[in-house]
Amino acid sequence: MVKWKDKKEFWISGGKLADPAAGKIRSGSVLVQKGLITEIQWQKKVETDLPVLDVEGRLLAPGFIDIHTHLREPGDEDKETIASGTAAAMAGGYTSILCMANTDPVVDDPSVVEYIIRRAEAAGNCRVYVTGAVTKGIKGDHISEFFHLKKAGIVALSDDGKYIDNSRVMRTALEYAGMLGLPVIAHCEDTYLTDESQMNESYVSTRLGLKGAHTASEEIAVARDIRLAELTGAHLHIAHVSAAGSLGLIKAAKEKGIRVTAEASPHHLTLDESMLETYDRNLKVNPPLRGSADISALRSALKDGTIDCIATDHAPHTDIDKQVEFDFAPPGMTGLETAFAQLHTELVITGELELIDLIRMMTTGPADVIGLPGGRLQEGEPADLVLIDPGEEWVYKKEIIRSKACNSPLVGKKFTGRVQGVFLEGRWRSAVS
Ligand SMILES: [Zn+2]
Repeated sequence: MVKWKDKKEFWISGGKLADPAAGKIRSGSVLVQKGLITEIQWQKKVETDLPVLDVEGRLLAPGFIDIHTHLREPGDEDKETIASGTAAAMAGGYTSILCMANTDPVVDDPSVVEYIIRRAEAAGNCRVYVTGAVTKGIKGDHISEFFHLKKAGIVALSDDGKYIDNSRVMRTALEYAGMLGLPVIAHCEDTYLTDESQMNESYVSTRLGLKGAHTASEEIAVARDIRLAELTGAHLHIAHVSAAGSLGLIKAAKEKGIRVTAEASPHHLTLDESMLETYDRNLKVNPPLRGSADISALRSALKDGTIDCIATDHAPHTDIDKQVEFDFAPPGMTGLETAFAQLHTELVITGELELIDLIRMMTTGPADVIGLPGGRLQEGEPADLVLIDPGEEWVYKKEIIRSKACNSPLVGKKFTGRVQGVFLEGRWRSAVS
């Protein structure tokens, strides 16, 4: 495959094409010229004198887009760097990611935005879009200079990891963000109710002796933010929804015409709170893993349009960070390298979700939420594509991890369906070698 790296003009042919906008997977061929998709033919083989990359048995889709990645740089380069995080993204089939603002320094100043964009360009692994902090220092008190951040290149605002407790600050933020056309991504957990919690509040938390956070902590936060989105008319995007009650609120808001969108993470869709019986610190996340009723509600919400997209919340931590008592371990798990395989194995192979719907949730879905380019199979667009072998069985081993961090509860797990690599503007990057 390596020889394809330098071909400037070639057909990708012989396999299936996933067209998420049309909702179809069918035989087809794509012509790539100078980094762009210049022709799509809906037939398996093409008559051509140009070089042909034969992808028999495999699936070509628009490159995945993750709108919730923590790259940790600047500030926490021991956990992840822009280079290692984007390498992990590429290995997971992502050609675009949106990085979060809770770095050190926080992305509340144009110089930090420029720094991230420059470093991402130097790494050259995938496109990196930047989120600006809603409040200065992510302290929740005073809003950042949205206009200057937007001029520097941010495409969304978020204090992710922290809920903005002060309703007046959130209202002001939504008013200004709305004027600038920037979505506000909210981490919805009422901090007074989640204080010192380690997992979901339930029978399991009582049995394990861990302090729990009730789903009400999320639902209350979602309800307030939806009300403020209605009041201001701004676009509110709710990150990593985990509770069935939140889904009801989001669904009702959408029916009312309020500008609210929502994402679900691969871990909230597939991992159960009972897994915490092992006290695996890599299962500690915010919001916490929930019980089976919430998980099945979340899965239904993928299908009825309440959830708009899948986002990883890739949150790298070092082994040392996590090798402490459960109560002191920082929340978060990595996700970029396993998202597709995990959801394909747990939801598509089992017949619960159509493959094209999973792909849509990882391409056009996230692109539409933030208003990013890409996510579509279209002539004239950059050739940002992912090549998948849907039948390949593989094990997610520590040795193959491209992220600097290994804090995933999925290490050692066997998956069906593997990302083989991506084309970024037509340049091939293998994910498996
Ligand atoms: Zn969050």
